[in-house]
Amino acid sequence: MAENKTIRNKVVANDTVNTSQETIRPPVVTVMGHVDHGKTSILDAIRKTSVQAGEYGGITQHIGAYQIEHNSKKITFIDTPGHQAFSQMRARGGRAADIVVLVVAANEGVKPQTKESIQHAKAAGVTIIVALNKMDTAGADPQNVKQELAREGVMVEDWGGDIISVQVSAKSGTGLTDLLDAIQVQAEMMNLKADPASELEAVIIESRLDAKRGVVVTVIIKNGTLRIADEVSASGYNIKIRSMMDHNGKMLKEAGPSTPVEILGFSKPPSVGDLLVQKGSELAELAIDENRVEIIGKDTKRTVAIVVKADTQGTLEAVKAGLAGLVSEVVGATFSLKFLRASVGDITDSDVLLAQGARGIVVGFGVKPAPNVADLADNLKVTVKTYQTIYELMDDVKELLEGTAHDAEAKIKGRAQVLKTFKLPSGDIIAGCKVLAGALKEGSRIAIYDKDPADVTKEDEPLYVGQVKKLKKGKNEVPLVGKDNECGILLKPQFEGIAGDLWVEVR
Ligand code: GDP
Repeated sequence: MAENKTIRNKVVANDTVNTSQETIRPPVVTVMGHVDHGKTSILDAIRKTSVQAGEYGGITQHIGAYQIEHNSKKITFIDTPGHQAFSQMRARGGRAADIVVLVVAANEGVKPQTKESIQHAKAAGVTIIVALNKMDTAGADPQNVKQELAREGVMVEDWGGDIISVQVSAKSGTGLTDLLDAIQVQAEMMNLKADPASELEAVIIESRLDAKRGVVVTVIIKNGTLRIADEVSASGYNIKIRSMMDHNGKMLKEAGPSTPVEILGFSKPPSVGDLLVQKGSELAELAIDENRVEIIGKDTKRTVAIVVKADTQGTLEAVKAGLAGLVSEVVGATFSLKFLRASVGDITDSDVLLAQGARGIVVGFGVKPAPNVADLADNLKVTVKTYQTIYELMDDVKELLEGTAHDAEAKIKGRAQVLKTFKLPSGDIIAGCKVLAGALKEGSRIAIYDKDPADVTKEDEPLYVGQVKKLKKGKNEVPLVGKDNECGILLKPQFEGIAGDLWVEVR
């Protein structure tokens, strides 16, 4: 044992020293912002001035990304057509891009999708550069926009922050060179590196079925080199690369880090945001179960969607078997359990997005979400729970299933009695409750009455309306508490002063 450990340490040490293969790679840039603020115009303008159109057979290809050369150095742009599903955008932005160019029309300022873009860029931990566009318009007011951005926590350089901002006009072309310079300065500061000789890691940014060509997939290589005839895996499919083409329509034999390429060889479209890796590699094991959907329990009214992540294949199998057992154990259950994904590895943004899409939850066993993934889950209000023992996990999920079963039976969301309340130093109030029916969930909207909600009529006004910020069972934070259980719910300070016999209704 001890010897093994020493060997392993040596290997790790060697790996750390042996980074001579790592070379600077071009930055991968994605453009985000409010509709009509000029994202497409900026991408088109850059593409037109910097890409040698027609170099290869007179056609530039729209493959979902392109690469330009500026100051003799390359930059890769993800070239999102139209207004694709924002969640896909997030998935690929988060995994594929190094830099987000946040486009804000200088004559309009911060709008709802600007705010959304800021949240997603932050959650994904991607560096922001601000492009103040439409500077040619009469109403352009860059100072005002910078102030609005500061309110959203985006502090540009002349507001004392470190976010670069550039004033541009996609229409006249002014400032676009400055924008490209800024991207390169930022990339240099980020010291982006990759090793063309290391194991392949590429991110799928486009995936579609073409009537003539079959499944057409665009990937951006993050690490390693992709070669024609390589055997690779993505979204659980193993395939051989049949052909590979760049954004100029040039056929390639191989492509290195940060290069976007269109590949053929898939018979079914893999998922955008998933990784493309060498078949049989260690990374392939992480990617293999992606998007495999399995449903346990049939012909039921309700489905609980769940993403399971575990530290090893062995624990993963144990967790899955345990959960399947739970379903068959609850006799006459009116629900089923749907595994959206069950795979080995840390909890990633793609897990959170998958759960969000299905209104499901993410559970991890012996693994953790990375900090930016936890932020994303918070922003999207997706419950992510991690466990160290299988008993805890089973208990929680059992409660969740039972809560759901009761829900379905009674057609009510939940009802609880307040046993006592106490105030925290923060001013928040904890209400100790007993669940009488249904379930209380983290994030549930609740109303508090001075009578049992079962007796409440339309005339009765609730004493307090709010949201369950946190839910605790004993010392542990839990996502849900089912019938006959006691729990503590965290309420805002506004609840203070409400006393007497109280009941909670889950809305
Ligand atoms: P997107 O929805 O963010 O991709 O925005 P588009 O690139 O489609 O641009 C929306 C509209 O704004 C179009 O009518 C563009 O012609 C116009 N537009 C884009 N950039 C500029 C600019 O710099 N100045 C002016 N005056 N109009 C622009």
